Amino acid sequence: MTAATLDQTFVLSSYGRNNTSFVEGKGARLYDESGKEYIDFASGIGVSSVGHGNPLLTEAICTQAKALIHTSNLQVIAPQAELAERIVSLSGYDMRCFFGNSGAEANEAAIKIARKHGETCFEKKRYKVITLEHSFHGRTITTVKATGQESFHSPHFSPYPDGFLYVSQIDAVYEAIDDETVAVMIELVQGEGGVHPFDKEEIQRLARILKEREILLIVDEVQTGIYRTGAFLASHLYEIEPDIITLAKGLAGGVPIGVAMTSLKDIFEPGDHGSTFGGNFLSTRAGLTVLAILEEERASGDLATRIEQFDVYLTTLQKQYAHLFTAEVGLGLMLGLRAVNSEVQQKVLAAAFEAGVIALRAGRNTVRFLPPLTITKEEIDEGFKRFEKAITAL
Ligand SMILES: *Cc1c(COP(=O)(O)O)cnc(C)c1O
Repeated sequence: MTAATLDQTFVLSSYGRNNTSFVEGKGARLYDESGKEYIDFASGIGVSSVGHGNPLLTEAICTQAKALIHTSNLQVIAPQAELAERIVSLSGYDMRCFFGNSGAEANEAAIKIARKHGETCFEKKRYKVITLEHSFHGRTITTVKATGQESFHSPHFSPYPDGFLYVSQIDAVYEAIDDETVAVMIELVQGEGGVHPFDKEEIQRLARILKEREILLIVDEVQTGIYRTGAFLASHLYEIEPDIITLAKGLAGGVPIGVAMTSLKDIFEPGDHGSTFGGNFLSTRAGLTVLAILEEERASGDLATRIEQFDVYLTTLQKQYAHLFTAEVGLGLMLGLRAVNSEVQQKVLAAAFEAGVIALRAGRNTVRFLPPLTITKEEIDEGFKRFEKAITAL
């Protein structure tokens, strides 16, 4: 049986998959079973941040695997401790980290941190979390409820936990706050919702007002974090100091990891929270290696150069194909072309894939680009050559 047949027979069909199966990758290139080559402008939804088959990352993972993959969180895990130090140090915030295995798990931890704070620090218990419409925070029962998109709140999975409410824009947060509000959770650039960066002054004002009212600001940097927007954290570009930040996607280059970091450094006591696999030797060694690679990428100016090159292509394409795309959106290497409608969005993605370049959908009408942060100029040029060829034919 082929992989596709096995998949259809034995894997629950929760994803709208096509039948392509990749067998190998190098840098920003992927190869499928038939040997066809693709330029990867998606990096596994922002995960393969240092590209495929990165020699430093694969070497570090192999060496670590030979020494130890996993013990448990009942003993000190040296690379976990070192990775926490690196993350906190690069963030510039006075924080501590909790390690899980995914973005949803990081956000679950963030919500537990906020809830415990709301329960222990005020006379009247605070527990409500305000999130934004078009946000995306994960697929567990709680994080899907935190996600401000009605289409995600299917009655199939109800009842959902209480205490989440949604507002259509940042301005509407202030009216939604009551004496039971403990936190506001936002993405600075909404990813799944359509690659939508919020206005910097609006976010700074929000951060200031929440601080005055002793309400926590949780920034979901699962997609924006780890240099995706050009800075280590998007919070740096917005010049804010969140109370809780979550990370995941790009942090370990494809090894599952999630982090909730907080300035509430003493919030948890032993027993409050846990994760069997969270922060094990393998994932945190991978995280340390990815950070070392990306720190260098940023310091050398290579990251800024790639962002610039990508941006030039998208600006030009949008102008030239204005009948297909109404705007270029995004920040850093988290970019998108807003298609005129969802039909065009789907056609563009399908034609691009056929032509050997992988992009992603976001929201109802955005074609999203999340290339590896180590992508080369040659790979960018080749990818856009194919992309343009694909859309010319539409
Ligand atoms: C992907 C994503 C998540 C969920 O991450 P998983 O690892 O799939 O659980 C949460 N928040 C944001 C902003 C994301 O982009």
